[in-house]
Amino acid sequence: NYKELEKILFSMDGKSYSAYKSLKGEYRFEKYILAIDHVQSDPYAPPSKMRIIMDRKICGIPYELTDTKDKNIAVSDFLTRNFYREIQKSGNDSTGTGGSGRIFIDRCGQEILERTSVLIKGDKVEVRFEMGMPAKGRRIMGKAAQKIIFEQLPEIVEKSIIYDNLNKKALNEQVILVLDQEYARKMLKEKGLVAFVANDSVLPRESGVSDRPMKNAVKFKSPEKFEITLKLPSGKEVSGMGIPKGITLIVGGGYHGKSTLLAALERGVYNHIAQDGREFIISESDAVKIRAEDGRNVEKVNISGFINNLPQNKDTRAFSTENASGSTSQAANVAEALEYGTSLLLIDEDTSATNFMIRDGRMQKLVAKEKEPITPFIDRVKELYDNFGVSTILIVGGSGDYFDVANHIIMMDEYVPKDVTEKAKEIAKLDENKREFSSNDKFQGVTQRIPLKKSFSQSGKLDKTKAKGKYSILYGKELIDISGLEQLVDDSQTNCIAVMIDYFKNKVLDEKLTLSQAADRIYEKIEKGGLDSISSYTGHPGNLALPRKQEFCAAVNRYRKLRIK
Ligand code: ADP
Ligand code: MG
Repeated sequence: NYKELEKILFSMDGKSYSAYKSLKGEYRFEKYILAIDHVQSDPYAPPSKMRIIMDRKICGIPYELTDTKDKNIAVSDFLTRNFYREIQKSGNDSTGTGGSGRIFIDRCGQEILERTSVLIKGDKVEVRFEMGMPAKGRRIMGKAAQKIIFEQLPEIVEKSIIYDNLNKKALNEQVILVLDQEYARKMLKEKGLVAFVANDSVLPRESGVSDRPMKNAVKFKSPEKFEITLKLPSGKEVSGMGIPKGITLIVGGGYHGKSTLLAALERGVYNHIAQDGREFIISESDAVKIRAEDGRNVEKVNISGFINNLPQNKDTRAFSTENASGSTSQAANVAEALEYGTSLLLIDEDTSATNFMIRDGRMQKLVAKEKEPITPFIDRVKELYDNFGVSTILIVGGSGDYFDVANHIIMMDEYVPKDVTEKAKEIAKLDENKREFSSNDKFQGVTQRIPLKKSFSQSGKLDKTKAKGKYSILYGKELIDISGLEQLVDDSQTNCIAVMIDYFKNKVLDEKLTLSQAADRIYEKIEKGGLDSISSYTGHPGNLALPRKQEFCAAVNRYRKLRIK
């Protein structure tokens, strides 16, 4: 029990750091069990992993607040944020070598994600956190450790986890907010929409490095034509712009807020916390941002719908390259998104390859069809919708060619959207120098690909997959660069992708399942057993936050040794 732990810590003072190892175990405190799952080997190593395990009765959070998955996620998120905040308030800080002495828990951003940091399950609440065991040089600071574990930690737990001490109103509101957002996302289909942007939303962010709302931003106001009202489960009604299925073009002068609108829609696949400004910017949950990503690896992807007749007769129905160009990478990104499944593509001119997006009438006259391998997106976007049910929202500010194919055209004007569909269509009708449809064939769709086991064998069975920050993952010595995944929002999602890749190669990969099916298996497993169930870490499953299937598959596709049947 805790008295013994206290004695041990005092007696360890000044001893060699490795003596901390003996602390591994569980200690009974008054209101909880402290589980020390893993002790770091030196003060510079990643901090030690611990859990607080508390009876639900002592914690006191009412069961009605956690009786569905969405509610549970909302409450876990709330407790994680609380715990994080209380660490800051407690005065806990580095007291020794290598920053040791500090307590850490997953830091939540503006999105509310399914996480492993706080687990509320059955009659237990578990908080998973880390602590740098304090040291001076390589000597144990026993008194400092005692202070953290017996003074700071109990206070943090008391203030952040015990229901009576929580801001009950805020907790309740967060649960309601998540339910409303989930409901709004479900309503999209019913209303024939792919996205919704509530009036008074704040779209721009504070800065390039801060995801908080910009202060004094121009608030969103829907054009009349697209305005709809959603009645939410909480009883609240929100009005805003409903973007219908089909092809929606966003135009407008430079710096008028086009990219900001699209970025908000990209994030609309996630739920957001109160005061974020994007609480009711809601997109289809499988929406995928498509961009050019030159230099990326592509493995046997069917990009023939966009690229054909390459020099030297290179087959584009199973196209591979270690160094994709702007247009081929963007074509591969579309094809892969269709493989995993998506109902909405989001494209910004700022991050697109021009030759992938457009080819105007003049260029068509100069360069014969047969000499141009690319069927630009403009000639496929309608087929994607008509024959495959995939909508597109895209920004093209520099060419009017898309007027012909777009169903809806929205102009951003000083950050305010206007409906300009009719006017643009009028202009398109009067234009004599029209371009021609540049393809002779129909879009055939994509090919599902089956990953091979040998993809993962080169580096040996024991190789672990490890996240390095948000945008890279190491598999053995192989770096997987996922910096092109703009809808990844949290380092812990990257941690989770690393864990999922391990699970994928050890438990799922069988040379029969396509990548998309294999991913579905992993998500089924998570759905049943929670995120903990795919982690190989017993006790403390680390800092995981659930990514979408789209980002998981995209990461696998960026693994340069991926081999396809
Ligand atoms: P575009 O893509 O049309 O060139 P951006 O979306 O990149 O324009 O926006 C240009 C700048 O305006 C950015 O710095 C952005 O933060 C800012 N901005 C965008 N929307 C708003 C808004 N509603 N209120 C205030 N500033 C905004
Ligand atoms: Mg832009």
